[in-house]
Amino acid sequence: MIDPAVARMLRNDPKSYVISADIVANVTATNTLEHAFMVLSKVGYSRIPVLDADDHLQGMISLAVITDKLLHVPGAAVDQLSNYTVADVMLPVEHWVDDPTKLETILNYMINEPFIPLVDEHKVFQGIITRREILKRINYLAHNLANYYEVIPRENVVEEDK
Ligand code: AMP
Repeated sequence: MIDPAVARMLRNDPKSYVISADIVANVTATNTLEHAFMVLSKVGYSRIPVLDADDHLQGMISLAVITDKLLHVPGAAVDQLSNYTVADVMLPVEHWVDDPTKLETILNYMINEPFIPLVDEHKVFQGIITRREILKRINYLAHNLANYYEVIPRENVVEEDK
């Protein structure tokens, strides 16, 4: 369990650490892999969400799976990617949250994943929570904890900086 004082500080204004769906680059499962490759190259991210026509979260597409596909097509030419769709290689969404204040879950998922999708109760995509945004919060916490709480070491704590 996250320490309640830490959770309160991190959770303050949770909307501010969600990157809203309207500015998250995405593709649909019916897009060609050539299109997905171009979108990923243009935005400079290695992995983005796959949405359906009603904005439901369907999967993830990454440069790594496209490159892998490319290596298996004759001649490994990029234009061959137009013969395949995102649906052919997209990855399942393993972790997501439906509430941006679920910090314990978010931090646990984030150990292995650079961003966590946020969906509503119908799995309609709302945005993403990224490591960068959470790290900004943790940075703030690390610098400002003493402005909010009095932190007194317990007897068994060895303070190396003294
Ligand atoms: P960051 O913590 O900012 O490095 O972001 C972590 C990951 O989140 C990136 O590598 C992307 O996969 C994803 N990401 C961040 N911002 C966006 C965005 N605007 N559109 C799509 N994916 C994004």
